[in-house]
Amino acid sequence: MQRMAVLTVAGMLVATACAADAPITTPITTPITAPITTPITTPITAPPNVPAPELPATTSTEASTISVGRGSRPTDTGLADRLFPGLGAPAVDVVSYLVQLNVNVDAGSFDAVVDVVADVDTSVRQMALDAAGFTVDLVQIDGADAPFEQLGDELIIELPADSGRRVTATITYAASPDEAFSAVGLPAGWFQTEGGSYVLNEPDGARRWLPSNDHPSDKATWRFEITVPDGVTVSANGDLVQDGQLGGPWIWQMSEEMPTYLVHLVIGPYDVFDGGALTSTDGDKIQLTHVVPAGEQAKFQRFIDETPKQFDYFEERFGPYPLEDYGLAFVDSIAGLAMETQGRSLFSQFDFQVSAVGDDEEPINFLQQLLLAHELAHQWFGNAVSPATWSDIWLNESFATYAQYLWLDEIELVDLDSEMSELLLARQTGDVATGTPTLESMFGFESYDGGSVVVHALRLEVGDEAFFSLLAGWIGSNTGTSQTSGAFILLAHELTGVDLGEFFDTWLYATSLPAQFPQV
Ligand SMILES: [Zn+2]
Repeated sequence: MQRMAVLTVAGMLVATACAADAPITTPITTPITAPITTPITTPITAPPNVPAPELPATTSTEASTISVGRGSRPTDTGLADRLFPGLGAPAVDVVSYLVQLNVNVDAGSFDAVVDVVADVDTSVRQMALDAAGFTVDLVQIDGADAPFEQLGDELIIELPADSGRRVTATITYAASPDEAFSAVGLPAGWFQTEGGSYVLNEPDGARRWLPSNDHPSDKATWRFEITVPDGVTVSANGDLVQDGQLGGPWIWQMSEEMPTYLVHLVIGPYDVFDGGALTSTDGDKIQLTHVVPAGEQAKFQRFIDETPKQFDYFEERFGPYPLEDYGLAFVDSIAGLAMETQGRSLFSQFDFQVSAVGDDEEPINFLQQLLLAHELAHQWFGNAVSPATWSDIWLNESFATYAQYLWLDEIELVDLDSEMSELLLARQTGDVATGTPTLESMFGFESYDGGSVVVHALRLEVGDEAFFSLLAGWIGSNTGTSQTSGAFILLAHELTGVDLGEFFDTWLYATSLPAQFPQV
């Protein structure tokens, strides 16, 4: 996830929060007493123009063989995520998205046709998607017009009685999206830049420009077909299928499943270039594709050159790189912000200016090393294995933060033991546990630096060999899925043979941590 500020306990301010004119640091002044994304509790009992589906006549008495038509009950419009109860829908499992946008870059608007192929529980007669801030013009199910309604931040589509479990919803709309503040107090969604745009969807920004099942538990494959004016570049996740500069849309295909919050979509005056390939420890070729401001590859190459070193270092500790590709994208996003968009991390070019370093001869600075390592580590922790709920955010951030400190220790910009001791000191008081974040804390200290202390304590509790085996086992056995903290704890029990119940109660689920790390 993005890091808006990086402050070590030693008091060294290594990054300002953000650009001075960006409203990132504006706190939420109104306490969130009720979830902002309260799910719709009133079901649509009488959808317009749609007769209640009838069960087909059948003579069979065996329930398992009855082929019922589309169900007779309305769907729930939220997954009841503890932090974002309205996101996602329990009856919907998206298989793939086809995102076709025709973008007016100058106006910051687009016309869209989006295909959402999904398995929808046949006991419900509706398909609910998250959609906020734009008006849908037309919805088709399997090619036929379907009644729909937009209620709050939900798009409710009536499904034909004879539709099967797998449906294709084709949604036509136009949007002039803009970033909006998420309930966590950070902007999310579609951001306009000079001559382009980018998206930053975590945690609930995708629905602001894309009708989707906007929850990390639902992974799908993706195809992006983005039409922009001549001379404008588009970068999205996955493989470049068609270069738009040769005519037609830019087409990117992501064949590995990923949730909405990891979508990478950058438009603007950039160069996309092939960075060669790395060979994983399991022999896989990891294709590298990078994005830099047009004509400035040479300026950013020194940062790109860090990737193979960090890649090798993390593979030794966390197991083989778990995805098919990687790359770095240096774009016109807000300074101080970075995001682990799957397979191609997003960085602000303003954090990687030579002037921020001094000159070409100076080493890459602390913040730059931190950001590069943190987002690469997320490809293991968060992307290969994603959180099942937003309460499981420590599985992303605490591990990526710990990984960043491992790397910073490796290159001697940090002494890991000293850093962890100082961070532990800061965890002696507090009112939020790393394992049960609030909306205000999920991207705060207890998930990042304060959470890395929990990971370090686990390492000391079980020993290096068991610890790194556990991390590699976690990734190796769960890549492509979304998992809970409970599943991690269970695996920790199984792989270490140690009863860690008291450990996690004391470290992960306690607001104030012990004064001392477990003794080695
Ligand atoms: Zn992060």
